[in-house]
Amino acid sequence: MIPPGETIGILGGGQLGRMLAMAAAQLGYRCHIYAPEADSIAAEVSAAFTCAGWDDVAAMARFAADCAVVTYEFENVPVAPLAALGGVPLLAHPRALETAQDRLSEKRFIAGLGGRTAPYAPVDSPADLARAIAAIGAPGILKTRRDGYDGKGQWRIMAPADAESADLAALFAGKPGPLIYEGLVRFEAEFSVLLCRGRDGDIRFWDTPGNRHESGILMHSAVPAAAGVQAQAAEARALAAGVAEALGYVGVLTLEFFAAAGGPVFNEMAPRVHNSGHWTIEGALTSQFENHVRAICGLPLGDTALAARGVEMRNVIGDAAEDWAGILADPCNHLHLYGKAAARPGRKMGHVTRLTL
Ligand code: AMP
Repeated sequence: MIPPGETIGILGGGQLGRMLAMAAAQLGYRCHIYAPEADSIAAEVSAAFTCAGWDDVAAMARFAADCAVVTYEFENVPVAPLAALGGVPLLAHPRALETAQDRLSEKRFIAGLGGRTAPYAPVDSPADLARAIAAIGAPGILKTRRDGYDGKGQWRIMAPADAESADLAALFAGKPGPLIYEGLVRFEAEFSVLLCRGRDGDIRFWDTPGNRHESGILMHSAVPAAAGVQAQAAEARALAAGVAEALGYVGVLTLEFFAAAGGPVFNEMAPRVHNSGHWTIEGALTSQFENHVRAICGLPLGDTALAARGVEMRNVIGDAAEDWAGILADPCNHLHLYGKAAARPGRKMGHVTRLTL
């Protein structure tokens, strides 16, 4: 066990790191943030900050010297420079990062565990894309295999002729790196499985939220989810537990699914705390952030049961100024603002959790 008072290193400086650091502080830990951006909203609430590039191995080694354990809030951290952490444990294990960083290896891994995925094919050229569309059909989505998030790096193909569009010609001309074409899944709803696995192998699940996305960005999560999602939660949880066991995973792990007619279809995994679990801060007996800290420090995990009859979380996105005082005047609401200086369209600025007691 890593005793309170020790320092937890967090790779990544955004809102997930900020909420992890706040949960760690509650348990008496210090946090040290490592991020390339100078304006880190996680560093604002932490004891120490290393602002350096992901490949700056000297800075990474100095950072590690201050930490008893290191975790990450951003799954696109390059894996090779993490060797500079030396003997300081990195949890979850970097094999989870390697698996989740590439949509192709992720899908193969899931299929290997018996999970259902959308039909897919790797694409490196316009000819590959034509072959993929011929094999899988349209509509479908062309995605970058690496570094995509919040719907970025995705192109919808509604009909085979779309593959000839100027947008896609420009994409290939720009040498986009490896891509993947996926058939569009017809789904009734989207949902995620959130679990936490302790160092001792103990696994806890939170209630399964139903999620709504717009333009690839999560807008809303709610528990209890619709009946169609609840009916698929057990099968999805079994797959998520299999993933956690196979990776020797420690911490919070998230798998996103489509509730389709034939059962849950895996979409993607995040080896970290997740936006669809923000409702757990007030809506569960132990939040995803607290349990992640407990897990990586070797403490017993907390109860994940619901703390209300129902919980809804909506993201505050872009630069829409809202009536914060009006939101807070309703005792069922909890407002979280992340303190980001510059609002941009599509940027996650905060969230509001609403409890039904
Ligand atoms: P992703 O970045 O892969 O999670 O995609 C973001 C969102 O786009 C998902 O939450 C879905 O709403 C939608 N989406 C992505 N892939 C597919 C697919 N194969 N079929 C249907 N919808 C998809």
